[in-house]
Parts: sequence; C-alpha cells; structure tokens
Amino acid sequence: MGSIVVCGGSVIGLSVAMMLAADGHQVTVLEANPQGVPADSLAAWDSWERKGVAQFHQPHTLFARFRQILDEELPGMVEKLVAAGGEWMDPLDPLPRMIGDPTSWPDDERFRSVTGRRPMPGPGTN
Ligand SMILES: Cc1cc2nc3c(=O)[nH]c(=O)nc-3n(C[C@H](O)[C@H](O)[C@H](O)COP(=O)(O)OP(=O)(O)OC[C@H]3O[C@@H](n4cnc5c(N)ncnc54)[C@H](O)[C@@H]3O)c2cc1C
Repeated sequence: MGSIVVCGGSVIGLSVAMMLAADGHQVTVLEANPQGVPADSLAAWDSWERKGVAQFHQPHTLFARFRQILDEELPGMVEKLVAAGGEWMDPLDPLPRMIGDPTSWPDDERFRSVTGRRPMPGPGTN
C-alpha cells in the first residue's frame, strides 16, 4: 500500500483521503488553515474562518454522481450528512413541466442528492 499526501482538507481533499484510507493506504492531509476544527457545527458557522474556502457559508449541493460515489466508496457518509442537517433534494420532484410523461422510472433514485451549508446546520437549514 502507498503512503499518500493530500493537499487541502476540504470537501474533495477529505473525501479522497477517506477513500484512500479505506483502501488501506496511509494518508496524510495537509491543510493550510491553521485553525483547529470547532467543537460543533454551530461553532463552525459562527467562528471558523476558512480563508481558503471563500464559499464556506454558502449552500453546497452534492451533485448526484458524487453522491453515488460516496455511497459506493464511503457507505453511510451521505446519511451522516443528512443527520447533521443536510437536506435531500430530487430534481425530478416535481418533474419539470416540459417532460410530458410524469411516470417515475425505477432508477430515478440515482438523481437524488443532498444539499446544505458546509458548516451544517447553518442558519436557514432548520
Ligand atoms: C460560490 C460557489 C458555490 C459553489 N457551489 C457548489 C455546489 O453547490 N456544488 C458543488 O459540487 N460545487 C460547488 N462549488 C465548487 C466547489 O466548491 C469546489 O469545486 C469544491 O469546493 C472543491 O473542493 P476542494 O476540496 O477541492 O477545494 P476547496 O473547498 O476550495 O478547499 C481547498 C482547501 O485546500 C486548502 N489549501 C489551499 N491551498 C493549500 C496549500 N497550499 N496547502 C494546504 N492546503 C491548502 C484550503 O485552505 C481549503 O481548505 C461552488 C464554488 C463556489 C465558488
């Protein structure tokens, strides 16, 4: 197994680090932000300065393909995001009006994903 350094401890850096670790690699994440992780998400919302992540307080939507990859590679992670205040979103509910056939297909579920603010749950997510 490899010894791998991931540069940046944000959404992608941490996700890839956990996936590599789950595959048995030894992973070190380097993060430029010197501030430690706050105790909880409200403290993160109020006081965590993420100067390297300008959009830290803005809504963030996991795209459906990334949600699928998380389900495959890090089972339970999406459920943890929902438990932390993330909201399920379904682009087919309701179906856009230009789609004439409103029938659900068995694999429509693959389009569902989760949205929230990065320091979940922030204001507006309750
Ligand atoms: C306003 C806005 C809204 C967005 N909304 C969405 C969305 O809804 N859905 C979506 O999928 N994407 C969205 N994006 C894009 C998404 O935020 C980025 O693609 C995503 O954040 C990239 O994740 P990342 O972990 O690679 O980097 P980032 O989240 O940008 O984080 C980079 C990390 O690396 C650290 N870092 C930087 N330089 C170094 C260094 N030299 N050494 C160590 N650490 C370093 C930083 O401190 C930071 O923690 C949005 C982007 C913007 C600007």
